[in-house]
Amino acid sequence: MSGRELGYIADAFQTNYIAPLGPMVERFEQSICDYTLSPNALALSSATAALHLALRVLGVGKGDIVLTSSFTFIGSVSPILYQNAIPCFIDSDTKSWNLDPQLLVQAIKNAPQKPKALIVTHLYGQCADLEAIVALCKEYNIYLIEDAAESLGATYKDRQSGTFGDFGVYSFNGNKILTTSGGGMLVSPHKELIDKARFYATQARDDAPHYEHTDFGYNYRMSNVLAAIGVAQMEVLDERIAKKRQIFEWYKQELGGVDEIAFMPELADTVGNRWLTTLVFSKSDPDVIRVALEKENIESRPLWKAMHLQPLFAGALCCQNGTAQALFDKGLCLPSGTQMCLEDVSRVSGLIIKALR
Ligand SMILES: *Cc1c(COP(=O)(O)O)cnc(C)c1O
Repeated sequence: MSGRELGYIADAFQTNYIAPLGPMVERFEQSICDYTLSPNALALSSATAALHLALRVLGVGKGDIVLTSSFTFIGSVSPILYQNAIPCFIDSDTKSWNLDPQLLVQAIKNAPQKPKALIVTHLYGQCADLEAIVALCKEYNIYLIEDAAESLGATYKDRQSGTFGDFGVYSFNGNKILTTSGGGMLVSPHKELIDKARFYATQARDDAPHYEHTDFGYNYRMSNVLAAIGVAQMEVLDERIAKKRQIFEWYKQELGGVDEIAFMPELADTVGNRWLTTLVFSKSDPDVIRVALEKENIESRPLWKAMHLQPLFAGALCCQNGTAQALFDKGLCLPSGTQMCLEDVSRVSGLIIKALR
């Protein structure tokens, strides 16, 4: 928390707007529009809910193929299952660690039917190769949804991640760069689709004085109290990004000289938010490092285990090149909280170097 949240929560209490909607929700949505320059935003209970609504309003349903980044978190992908659609997983390239556009072409050409949508993740706050991906989606008439849950504030050629597709999704879960304790945001250039998503997010209630339903929806809206936290958090987004990038630079300074360490690269013409500092070891087993850090009460984690490697998706459609597997086998996420100072980073780095010896 930044320290400003309680003031906005007090506003919400004073105006007695505690239950679901209220002025803070609109204010939070507006602050996202102002920051990302997306014309429309919808505050929701989670990014997973936002992705679900995106698929639903795009008409993705039973038997449709949805292409998706494989190297990602399950929340990117489970909404495809909610809609009874068929995921087709696409592996990463080595220059962005995100969806490989060359494999995307292959996946489109080899698919048993024309894919309906693509969900591309911008992992660890780094943009995927959007220019190539947007062009392919246009060429093949595929809806584009950006899972920008981890990449709020990251830019690709000076434009915000999440604003390139038919929909973009941000997360305010507890572990993200900003948090409302839990929450998500759906953005889109299409006003009519955001209006439709809002309708589905509030139980698909028809316009009548009583409760009239011709369709079913969900209870997916964000509460006014949590939106108050979001309004305060947005005020410190630029500071958070600067600090995250600083932490990355400190690690690079401390560990850059170690031969077998390579940090997550940054794609040309992009500025990531460096949500987590991540790296790979060319020789050592990252789990040995993780355990050595844990002994000092320092938490680190393996990189995401790709979806095509998950038991849940054994036998699923997939275009792979081994990149995500190698990243999972050799990678580590380092402590990256914005409270960290240079001494903290030095201490973690020193322990890593000691464990490598
Ligand atoms: C956190 C995350 C999600 C899910 O966000 P929630 O708000 O927790 O639903 C989806 N995709 C990615 C890549 C994430 O990191």
